[in-house]
Amino acid sequence: MSEFDVIVVGAGPAGSSAAIRLASKKMNVLLVEKSDPPGTKNVSGGVLWGHELDNIIPDWEKTAPVERYVKSKTVGFLTEDSSINIDFRSRKFDENKSGYTVLRVKLDQWLAKKASESGAMLVNGVTVDKLAMKDGKVIGVEQDGDTITADTVILAEGANPRVAIQSGIREPLKDRDVAIGVKEVIKLPEDKINERFNLRGKEGFAGEYVFGFLKGGVEAGGFLYTNKDSISLGAVVSMEHLRSNGNTHSFDIIEQFNSHPSIAPLIEGGKIDEYSAHMVQEGGFGSIPKLFGDGYMIAGDAAGFSFSNGLVLQGMNYAIQSGITAADTFMELKEKGNYSDSALSLYQEKLQKTFVLQDMINFKGIENVTWGNLIHQHLPNILESVMLEIFMENGMPKRHMYKILMDAMKKENVSSSKMISESFKMIRRL
Ligand SMILES: Cc1cc2nc3c(=O)[nH]c(=O)nc-3n(C[C@H](O)[C@H](O)[C@H](O)COP(=O)(O)OP(=O)(O)OC[C@H]3O[C@@H](n4cnc5c(N)ncnc54)[C@H](O)[C@@H]3O)c2cc1C
Repeated sequence: MSEFDVIVVGAGPAGSSAAIRLASKKMNVLLVEKSDPPGTKNVSGGVLWGHELDNIIPDWEKTAPVERYVKSKTVGFLTEDSSINIDFRSRKFDENKSGYTVLRVKLDQWLAKKASESGAMLVNGVTVDKLAMKDGKVIGVEQDGDTITADTVILAEGANPRVAIQSGIREPLKDRDVAIGVKEVIKLPEDKINERFNLRGKEGFAGEYVFGFLKGGVEAGGFLYTNKDSISLGAVVSMEHLRSNGNTHSFDIIEQFNSHPSIAPLIEGGKIDEYSAHMVQEGGFGSIPKLFGDGYMIAGDAAGFSFSNGLVLQGMNYAIQSGITAADTFMELKEKGNYSDSALSLYQEKLQKTFVLQDMINFKGIENVTWGNLIHQHLPNILESVMLEIFMENGMPKRHMYKILMDAMKKENVSSSKMISESFKMIRRL
C-alpha cells in the first residue's frame, strides 16, 4: 500500500491547484516544493488570468494577494527612437475583471497555504531527485536516497522539468522550446504609478512590447505591468537566438528596454527591488511530451502548456487548469484503483475538453510567428517610417499612404509579396 494517494512535485500554480482540489476531496496528498517558502524561485510577468481558480477557491479575488486589475492594455512596437502603441482601455474591464497583476512570491505562498489548509501535507525546501520506479511503473519519488510512495505522482515542476528528464519520461529540452525571461521589480510610490499610467485606485496597466531595436537579428519582447507600489518590467528572448548570437546577453536586453525613451520616464526615480530570470515555455504544441504514463501525469509548464502571441503571455491559467484536471482524473480512477498508462490516458481526454489542449492544438505553429523576423525586425521600423512621414511636418508636399508604405518596406528590404504572404500566415496563426 502506498503512503500517499498522490505526490505532487512543485508548489507553483499547477501543483498547488492540483493539491487543493485533491485535498479538499479528502485525498491523502503530499505537496513537495524545493523553495522555502514557495514562490521564492518563481517568476511571472505577471498577469494572472485566474478564472479557473473559481473552481477550487470560490471568490478567490477577495483574498488572493492580487496587486491591481488590468484596466488598460497596450501592445507596443519599439524602435531605437520611437514607440508605436495600440492602447486599449475599457469600462468593461471594471465590470468584468479578468486579469490581475500579481507578484509570485506572494501568490505562490498563498496558494500553497490554501493547499495545506485544505489538508495537503506541504513540505518546503525539499528537492525531488527523481521518480521512484518499479517494474517500469512510477511508484513515488526519490529524495536523498529515500523513497516516498504514492499511487500517482503529478509532476508540476515548471519550465525546467529536470525530474521528468532524469527519470527518462521526457526528452531534454531543445533551445527552440524555451525562451529566457528576465525581470525587474521596480519600487515606485503608488501615486506616481497612478499619475504616470493614468490609473485610479486598483486599476492597473499591462503592456507587451516587440523589441525592434535589437541588433544582430536577436528577437525579443518585453512587458511592463503595474503593481500597487511597484512595476514589473521584463524581457523575454528566444534561447535559440540568444545562443546563436554570442554577443548579446539577456541583461543587456532588459537594460536597453528600461532605458528606451518611451519606457525610461515611466520608471524614473524607481528603485530596483528584485531581479530574477527564468525559463519560459515557448515550444507550443510540438514541444508537449507524453502527458501520462504508468503512475504519473505531467501538468503546467512541465508539460509545455503556455500561450504567447505577442499580445499576451499566459501560463499560470494553463497551469491551474491542468493541475485541476490531473487531480480530477486521479479521483475518477480512484474507485477502481487503476492508475496504469491506459487508465491515465483519461487525463489527456479530459484536457482535450478544456482550453488547455484546445488552445495548444488550435494555435499550433504560433511560435514561428511570435519569433519571426517580420514582427521583430521589420515591422517596427516600417511602422516608424510611416508614422514619421505622416506626423512630422517638414514643409515637403504630402504623399499618399500607399507610396509611404511601399518606400518604408523597400527600406527594410521587404517585398510586397513577402509582406502579403507573411501577414496572411500571421493572421491565420494568431
Ligand atoms: C518572465 C516571465 C513572465 C511571465 N509572465 C506571465 C504572465 O504575465 N502571465 C502568465 O499567466 N504567465 C506568465 N509566465 C508563465 C508562468 O510563469 C508559468 O506558465 C507558470 O508559472 C507555470 O506554473 P507551473 O506551476 O507549471 O510552474 P512553476 O510556476 O515554475 O512552478 C514549479 C514549481 O516546482 C518547484 N520545483 C521544481 N523542481 C522541483 C523539484 N525537483 N522538487 C520540488 N519542487 C520543485 C519550483 O520551485 C516551483 O515552485 C511568465 C513566465 C516568465 C518566466
